[in-house]
Amino acid sequence: MNYSIIIPIYNEEAVLPKLYERLRSVCDSLAGEGELIFVDDGSRDQSLSIIEKFRSQDPRVKILSFSRNFGHQMAITAGLDAASGEAVVIIDADLQDPPELIPELIKKWREGYKVVYAERSARRGDGIFKRASARLFYRLLKWLTKYPIPENVGDFRLLDKQVVTELRQLREQHRFMRGLTSWVGFRQGKVAFVRDPRYAGETKYPFRKMLRFAFDGITSFSIVPLRLAVSLGFFIVIICVGLALWALGARFIFHVTIQGWTSLMLAVVFMGGVQLMMLGVVGEYVGRIYEEVKGRPLYIIERKEGFE
Ligand code: UDP
Ligand code: MG
Repeated sequence: MNYSIIIPIYNEEAVLPKLYERLRSVCDSLAGEGELIFVDDGSRDQSLSIIEKFRSQDPRVKILSFSRNFGHQMAITAGLDAASGEAVVIIDADLQDPPELIPELIKKWREGYKVVYAERSARRGDGIFKRASARLFYRLLKWLTKYPIPENVGDFRLLDKQVVTELRQLREQHRFMRGLTSWVGFRQGKVAFVRDPRYAGETKYPFRKMLRFAFDGITSFSIVPLRLAVSLGFFIVIICVGLALWALGARFIFHVTIQGWTSLMLAVVFMGGVQLMMLGVVGEYVGRIYEEVKGRPLYIIERKEGFE
């Protein structure tokens, strides 16, 4: 097998025909043998039966179908576990990532890059809020982690077989694939493209899911939030020492008694808030330990078609 293309699908019946048409013509133009791995992430619409129709006409189409919705990152993981190509491409189903870029990714890969990102030079398709929040997130991530996770890069990328083999060893529950591919290293290159709007249907990443995803990204690659608790605590202790000196001086040197209800209240409430917040941060990491320790499989495949 020369190349594998992994497409995570969750309720994408509206885009599938167009997607397949464009993917097929790209595949036809590529030299060598290829496979199209459609990973159905527990879709509740007609997606799976549409993919089955593709498969009945085209043996390159292979299907992995989950027993329920496990999420985008798990769908990608399942695809990577099953892919047998020398080069493996991950692409979104909604045609925000143009399949026509794949030959360029492959060209770059032939130059010797083991990971080739598709970098969004412009996001025609996304609203101002999505753009601003993405920007903020990547800034924060850069500041919090020591792995170079590139900005303006989604999951659309090409991975060399060797990288895929390494990625398969990383079995963590909270998966942020973009971070994981940076973590494994290897020579990484990029190709620029303009990101189109979603072709049809609506986003499968509502705000809450996006926030979860951002949190996973940060907590799986950084313990800086935990360290922040220590620094903040230290900072507050210093302020408290200053305040204590001032209060003692006022009492014993200047003999003024301070009325002080307001300041007392403020200090108590502030400290309570800080402690709860930091407890929450610690809890977030403890919860993740709990989920890892259970050691559950990352996804469950109900049906598999086209694989030996
Ligand atoms: N997706 C998935 N499972 C999910 C959510 C999304 O497999 O639970 C797939 C979806 O079908 C699409 C890709 O992940 O192929 C990206 O989703 P979407 O385009 O909705 O995200 P956005 O581009 O809005 O961030
Ligand atoms: Mg999209």
